Amino acid sequence: MNNKNRFNRAMTGLIGTGFMLAVFGYVNAQGDDPEVIETSSHVFTRMAEGVYQVTGTGEVYLMSNAMMLVGDEDVLLVDSHVTPNAANALLRSVRAVTNKPVRYLVNTHYHFDHAHGNQVFPEQVEIIGHEYTRTKLNGELGNVLTETTMVSFTEGVPALVESLRAQLSDTRDPEERAALARRLKAQEDHMISLREIIPTPPNITLDKKMTLFQKMGESDREIQLLHLGLGHTAGDVVVYLPQEKLVFTGDMMLPSLSYMGDSFPQEWVGSLEALKGLEFDVLLPGHGAPVQGKAEIGFFQAYITDLWQKTAALKAQGLTAEETAEQVDMTNHGSHYRQIRAPGADVRAIRRIYALLDE
Ligand SMILES: [Zn+2]
Repeated sequence: MNNKNRFNRAMTGLIGTGFMLAVFGYVNAQGDDPEVIETSSHVFTRMAEGVYQVTGTGEVYLMSNAMMLVGDEDVLLVDSHVTPNAANALLRSVRAVTNKPVRYLVNTHYHFDHAHGNQVFPEQVEIIGHEYTRTKLNGELGNVLTETTMVSFTEGVPALVESLRAQLSDTRDPEERAALARRLKAQEDHMISLREIIPTPPNITLDKKMTLFQKMGESDREIQLLHLGLGHTAGDVVVYLPQEKLVFTGDMMLPSLSYMGDSFPQEWVGSLEALKGLEFDVLLPGHGAPVQGKAEIGFFQAYITDLWQKTAALKAQGLTAEETAEQVDMTNHGSHYRQIRAPGADVRAIRRIYALLDE
């Protein structure tokens, strides 16, 4: 990590100190270890001893899930959300839940919504990610802030803010107004913080596998960081806890259709097969709710394979990527993926497949 990024990480970390936090815990049947701990911005759902899925309340726009592993001496976090603002809220919330220091941050991949909070982590926090994630975030492969993925997902934010302002001024019902005002505030903060992003790469990298042992009681917690092959990006890392039989997958596997604009669809299917080979009961995705078992993986493998084949066939008929994105019929997957109601697919996925077919 270069000094400039270190400096900026430290400076941005100072923003927002003095923030008031209310913490609510829902105590479980044993009465000691709460099942759910809620701060104003975050919900920590206990999955196993010291293992929490981290999601948002809506107060701050996070855009992605995180995971927190608390050991006897320190904390490991997985993914840093979408902006410095969101990551600052995460660090405040962590401090409200545990007084143990954050020692590691793992990036599941380089995408903006999982890694653009990196800069607020204090210097003593080691950031771990795949070698590819480092080369993306340190600018070696171009500026991630101007690439299609980041731009296409964020260029609509100012218009959304304007639309929420208009809706708020047209709404009289006090409850609706409160909900709109909350959403507007979250999107305004998000819009401002998007401009503060300084892509900050991992300072520790892995290629295929790295194992951490977190001090915990009699035995250590084994934390495997695994790159199972090309997939959602060229540098996906899953965080696998063999004792807890739990895996955090980032966007390599979601309960919904994962974005394919930077993906390697053909290899992704095989990498998902390797994911199936891990012994786990619960999958924590980068977006959405926990998934029980492995059946869901097969549905996504089938979608990827089918999209690739249908896209290749339409390309061979001479259709442009834009035409294929409108016409490709994936409705045979509609009974599983409810968002598929008519023919068509994400144009960014189709453009990606066209580019790979042209290589
Ligand atoms: Zn992603």
